[in-house]
Amino acid sequence: MRVVDAHLHLITREMMEEMGNERGLKEKQIRERRRRLRLPDFELFNFHTTVRKWLSEFERYHIEKGIFLPFVHNREEMIALAKASDRFIGFTTLDPTGEDADEILEEDLQVGLRGVKLYPVNRFFHVNDPQADKIYPLVEKYKVPVMIHFGLNVGPGSNLLYGNPLDLHPVALKYPQVNFIIAHFGCGFAREALFLAYQCPNIYYDTSSSNAWIRYLPYKTTLKDIFQRFLEAAGPERLIFGTDSNFFPRGYRYDILQKQKRILDELRVGKEEQEKIFGGNILRLMSLR
Ligand SMILES: [Zn+2]
Repeated sequence: MRVVDAHLHLITREMMEEMGNERGLKEKQIRERRRRLRLPDFELFNFHTTVRKWLSEFERYHIEKGIFLPFVHNREEMIALAKASDRFIGFTTLDPTGEDADEILEEDLQVGLRGVKLYPVNRFFHVNDPQADKIYPLVEKYKVPVMIHFGLNVGPGSNLLYGNPLDLHPVALKYPQVNFIIAHFGCGFAREALFLAYQCPNIYYDTSSSNAWIRYLPYKTTLKDIFQRFLEAAGPERLIFGTDSNFFPRGYRYDILQKQKRILDELRVGKEEQEKIFGGNILRLMSLR
């Protein structure tokens, strides 16, 4: 089966430094936070080495294509990544409430970035803020998806006040031609994410990460149950596979791919539908073959 991973992160030594400058996030803080959450430590490499490592991971695990998301605005790196191999797709990110957000975004999309990742929880904005409204006509014009991280977040200093996926409802209604992807099934806000599946046909869900948010719910559930709920509510056409692979030496999170494949097999999701989840849907949203 061809696999397209819709949620990976590019993070190089230089990009980590920029993150420190742009967002005040220092490497030391990130390492401490990851230790506290019992996440594995990481090593940073320069751009060239990081890209080479990703390419060999894609070959090793037969990943056809992957969408890489930056944590801060890294236009040059994301463009260089996409140029390095046609297996790599680069997204941009920015604070849509910023004064020049529309100009910055249009330039990003003109030079070949293929979508936008928004981090309201880390950048402290509501996606329905009137100041953010200026970016949505642009993503509509360039026909690119908008991926949003709502809910729990591993980043230090994130604020859940901006984490409710219901913020997206007025935006998804106002821009029915724009496709929105809620990452990690809403990362804790699964109920709200499911409600939106009923309300808005232009909202999609990525399955990425270990989905450890399940441990913070006040009731018992499993990833298999979550898959089942979203398959029923949104259908296989609106689920998008991803792993949220990010750092080395851990590299590509093949364990997540295997686990999700096993769940879909157990739920008796047919081959054609699995092909949509593992790549067909995201390729359709990106107007790729
Ligand atoms: Zn991520």
